[in-house]
Amino acid sequence: PPAPSPDVETLAAQIRAGNRAMLARGITLVESRKAAHRDKARALLQLLLPFTGKAHRVGITGVPGVGKSTTIDTLGSNLTAAGHRVAVLAVDPSSTRTGGSILGDKTRMERLATDPNAFIRPSPSAGTLGGVAAKTRETMLLCEAAGFDVILVETVGIGQSETTVADMVDFFLVLMLPGAGDELQGIKKGVLEIADMIAVNKADGDGALRARSAAADYRGALHILAPRSPTWTPPVITISGLANQGLDEMWRQVELHRDRMTASGELQARRARQQVAWMWDMLQQRMMEALTRDPARAARIKALEAAVRDGDVAVSVAVEEIAGLMGI
Ligand code: GDP
Repeated sequence: PPAPSPDVETLAAQIRAGNRAMLARGITLVESRKAAHRDKARALLQLLLPFTGKAHRVGITGVPGVGKSTTIDTLGSNLTAAGHRVAVLAVDPSSTRTGGSILGDKTRMERLATDPNAFIRPSPSAGTLGGVAAKTRETMLLCEAAGFDVILVETVGIGQSETTVADMVDFFLVLMLPGAGDELQGIKKGVLEIADMIAVNKADGDGALRARSAAADYRGALHILAPRSPTWTPPVITISGLANQGLDEMWRQVELHRDRMTASGELQARRARQQVAWMWDMLQQRMMEALTRDPARAARIKALEAAVRDGDVAVSVAVEEIAGLMGI
């Protein structure tokens, strides 16, 4: 039979001691939708909160095939070799819909998967993007309490996932493919606005020249954007995740950013803003869940939605009735 589940104090102590099995249990608890588990997860997070916040939180995005897992595998191995402890988490919007995930598969990161100083956690597969993000945030806190000092959060450029990840990290890295012009047109404009650095990957062999030319184009594109920070201009570098080229420079930039943002107070401000935004996100989700928990009420809301769609009921009338159902 499975071992009885430890009480929450024991679990917290074991996670802090770096017990990986207990960390995995803690994450399962955080991801659970059962009410009893949620109570326990909350207690666990409150106990561990004082031991969080010290890690480098780095988001990594890019289209499928750009080399995210290759780069994370190499970068992560460089970092563990340098004495860091690295956790890799994934926010995968595809997994929320289909249950299948295109990220976070351990076999995609062969070296890190067997590295005792690394921890890979695939994307939670239930709920909305908001729900997945909330769980990833909490998982990040658990990993920090367990002593991981580098958290890499991977996502693909689908829907809102990039902004969602940028809102939970200190540094947002965008990987790009070599080849300019058309590809520059193809990327979402918004992603340049939230990037703290752009790395053009596959800058090896035949790709080296094209990667440099793409980097120059991205530099130009970034140049015309209004600067977000007085202390940081997003650098554009070329790397090869496969050949382990440019990754030391990449990490040097992450640390430089950390130092400057800490000195200017921007890091603390960014995290404070993220915390408050997270609170409102979570509250909104709770309210939406509460709103539709009762099947009769959920059905009535669906009917009102249909009536609004068909133009039979005014929006304000529908909102008033729904507010009434909520007792507000
Ligand atoms: P992901 O979908 O973004 O995670 O991309 P993968 O890491 O799975 O890489 C997609 C393909 O590109 C694989 O065949 C990799 O071997 C290849 N690849 C990744 N990084 C590099 C690189 O730096 N140089 C070259 N030449 N190929 C790469």
